[in-house]
Amino acid sequence: MPTEANQDNRPRERSRIDSSVAISVADLFTIGIGPSSSHTVGPMRAAFAFIEEVAKATQPVTAIRVELFGSLALTGHGHATDRAILLGLSGETPEAVDPAAIPGIVDAIRAEKRIATILGPVPFDEERDLIFRKGEFLEGHSNAIRFAATLANGATVEREYHSVGGGAIVAVGETLALRSHNIVQRHPFASAAEMLAAGEETGLSIAAIVARNEEAWRPRAETDALLDRIAEAMNGSIERGMREEGLLPGGLKVKRRAKAIHARLRAQPADQQYARVFEWVSLFALAVNEENAAGGRVVTAPTNGAAGVIPAVIRYYRDFIPGADAEGVRCFLLTASAIGFLYKKRASISAAEMGCQGEVGVACSMAAAGLAAVLGGTNAQIENAAEIGMEHNLGLTCDPIGGLVQIPCIERNTMGAVKAINAAYLALQGDGRHVVSLDAVIETMRQTGEDMQSRYKETSLGGLAVNVVEC
Ligand code: SF4
Repeated sequence: MPTEANQDNRPRERSRIDSSVAISVADLFTIGIGPSSSHTVGPMRAAFAFIEEVAKATQPVTAIRVELFGSLALTGHGHATDRAILLGLSGETPEAVDPAAIPGIVDAIRAEKRIATILGPVPFDEERDLIFRKGEFLEGHSNAIRFAATLANGATVEREYHSVGGGAIVAVGETLALRSHNIVQRHPFASAAEMLAAGEETGLSIAAIVARNEEAWRPRAETDALLDRIAEAMNGSIERGMREEGLLPGGLKVKRRAKAIHARLRAQPADQQYARVFEWVSLFALAVNEENAAGGRVVTAPTNGAAGVIPAVIRYYRDFIPGADAEGVRCFLLTASAIGFLYKKRASISAAEMGCQGEVGVACSMAAAGLAAVLGGTNAQIENAAEIGMEHNLGLTCDPIGGLVQIPCIERNTMGAVKAINAAYLALQGDGRHVVSLDAVIETMRQTGEDMQSRYKETSLGGLAVNVVEC
């Protein structure tokens, strides 16, 4: 039963990933569209999955009803959840949809009040059939969606999905839809301590451990190709972001700044470019997150809201570190993945559960580890870098103005990227020994997220979202 909103608004159970479930790099870094992994990518996948379920009944569909609960209801308009549902029901997926075609598809559905599904056209009047249950939370997760389809023979098909962060969905009553079936990894780890122990036992780097584990899904050459595609997509979002200008959608009148900053930085003399390194890093992150806010193509890293941090730090490595190469970028992504797995297994990367510490904080921690690795850090130094990257993001709330992934999100990614670089260099100054372990800081993030009032967890009911007048 839905529960009314209260001060905490916390569902009593969570759709947390079982720590024994194997997670792949392909689950963590997915190429999709903006502006939100949990509110756009996840709902689109859920709507697509629902239509595929309905198709099994082999009956014409006469009506579809969709209900959004919790954070999805409160910030769904700003996060384009409504468009995502329409697209998913139309048979589009985040990976395959052409961002440029989206306005045409959505406008046609709205004008004709009908969705062209794989089962044929189905009447769909958004005002009647897509219901934002604001203030109602379902058991299990703050991002819940209920679908119901009426079939021609009078039967109904109903499903509930939870969007659990990073674009991943869980169908209630089923296990998490990860590529984990029958997977046996060579060096499984569910904690940073186990990850470090695997390194001690084998003499392998964290990146090499993850690379070996990925062989449970595909040969090494295919993993390399996957990592190259991810890196290329990340860099593509930086490049597109630096070319585009104008206002971002949504009504806040936020101006895209990346193109102008890029032009100013390029105009500086070559011998001054290294002195402006943090301006470049901020630009890279800004470019990705402006692209994300515009609904463009980005990579969940590990989420869309935090999509700029890792690409910006990788670009820093490529542009400013002598000797950087494609193998280094793969090492970066594999190492960052190891850290991302730990947050997914031991806490959450959903802002609706953890606030922004679970998005930009986690991305910062992952990027710090990746950079420490490619700069020659030991496993202990890498773990230290990841710990520092999160320690100084603890308590970071999620309070997007107007429910849009723009303020504070875009600039916040620049902060996360710069902080990640600092965390990596701080860790590399030491010998890997440190007081607060990565496991301890992940547990602290989890507890802090659970104690955080829901108004600071992607509901736009507190913080900047209520203290800034929209004009
Ligand atoms: S404030 Fe952080 S967690 Fe919230 S929408 Fe923005 S980037 Fe995501």
